[in-house]
Amino acid sequence: MKFGGSSVANRAQIAKVLGIVRAAAARGPVVVVCSAHKGVTDALVGAARRAAAGELDPEAVIARQRRVAEELDCPADLLDPLYGQLRDLLRGIHLVQELSPRSLDFVSSFGERMSARCIADFFAREGLPAQAHDVWDLGFVTDGQHGRARPLPGFEERARDAFAALEPGVVPVVTGFIGKTASGDVTTVGRNGSDLTATLLAAALGAEEAQIWTDTDGVMTADPSVVSGARNIPHMRFDEAAELAYFGSRVLHPSTLLPAMSRGIPVRVLNTNRPAHPGTVIEDVSPENPSAATSIAYKEGQCVLSVRATRMFGEVGFLARVFDVLARRGVDVDVVSTSEVSVSLTSHDADGLDAALEELAPLGDCRLDRGRTILAVVGQHLASRKGLGAEVLRAVYDAGVNVEMISYASGSINLQMVIADEDIERAVATLHGVLFEPAG
Ligand code: ASP
Ligand code: MG
Repeated sequence: MKFGGSSVANRAQIAKVLGIVRAAAARGPVVVVCSAHKGVTDALVGAARRAAAGELDPEAVIARQRRVAEELDCPADLLDPLYGQLRDLLRGIHLVQELSPRSLDFVSSFGERMSARCIADFFAREGLPAQAHDVWDLGFVTDGQHGRARPLPGFEERARDAFAALEPGVVPVVTGFIGKTASGDVTTVGRNGSDLTATLLAAALGAEEAQIWTDTDGVMTADPSVVSGARNIPHMRFDEAAELAYFGSRVLHPSTLLPAMSRGIPVRVLNTNRPAHPGTVIEDVSPENPSAATSIAYKEGQCVLSVRATRMFGEVGFLARVFDVLARRGVDVDVVSTSEVSVSLTSHDADGLDAALEELAPLGDCRLDRGRTILAVVGQHLASRKGLGAEVLRAVYDAGVNVEMISYASGSINLQMVIADEDIERAVATLHGVLFEPAG
């Protein structure tokens, strides 16, 4: 059961978490994975950056953490050792005026270490036996890729042994997000990575399911702040959820699903503020989705690069040369569409594309457009239902929006269009109406 930053933001939220965990623990053994309290990781990262820039202020973030600890009536000295370490660490960064990825991970790790201790302490005083654990004491040994560390081979056995040795009947409250190398360096799996910690542990322990507790009713058909009719998606397949996650859907981090997928463990996304709501279950096979599509997602602020080469007709290696330039410059590409004489592609990396233009110029006429949005319709029926693609394009046309680029791979579950940023709300609202709010 993973609880994100907003679920553990303050006493009111943590009390809800307690109720949810208490009910689950009465049914069987649970493991709680928690994030830092909302905003604390950002505050830690900010303090580290400022320290490296010459401005030392450990007390603001400590005061912030202290407020939550006090709300929870935790013993005043519970976090003193961590506060002391954090002060020393920030002072060190301030002295050398340098923030390495390794030091940044170390500073970032304090959020989860502090929140796990406060939450377990609160649970225990409220009558639910609980113990805080730094996940590295439970077998979570990682490689040394700071900011995107992954557990080393052998992690699953180590985790199983470590959990088997814990006292039965005491709920482990485990830090998300962080890890340690074999030589003891603190690492993190990446921002918003507590979900990944949870699914990795679920896979290692052979959990019945992994629950991601957040602040929406599971995964929605569209962004509720844009589409008032957006509704919950009760079931999704792993591949559908993965497409949405890559699309920057707020709810799931792209790599979160991999460990669960590999073990066939269902992932359930639930709302801490409405625990009775069934949320979204993501699993291998899901019942036939009665809607035409599963979800609509979009990414704004993208660039479209078009390279038009009259020589491309019948020429070998044109695409390879274009992509070679982009790969060498580390430009990551999302949507691609080609014709006999041109290729268009999107990337969020405006500077990278700009810098690549000079090298691309000999290959053909280049054009770079900014302020574009990739609009994606994801759903298992796209490959098989006749006329669905036409319906989607018709809806966008009806919204008066011009589609500048389209990409749909054979057999795919994701139809992608590129439109202008300013058209996004109209396009999504109309599309949502057609796909999810059939008349009558
Ligand atoms: N606390 C970390 C972050 O804010 C990890 C997480 O919340 O999942 O990125
Ligand atoms: Mg978070």
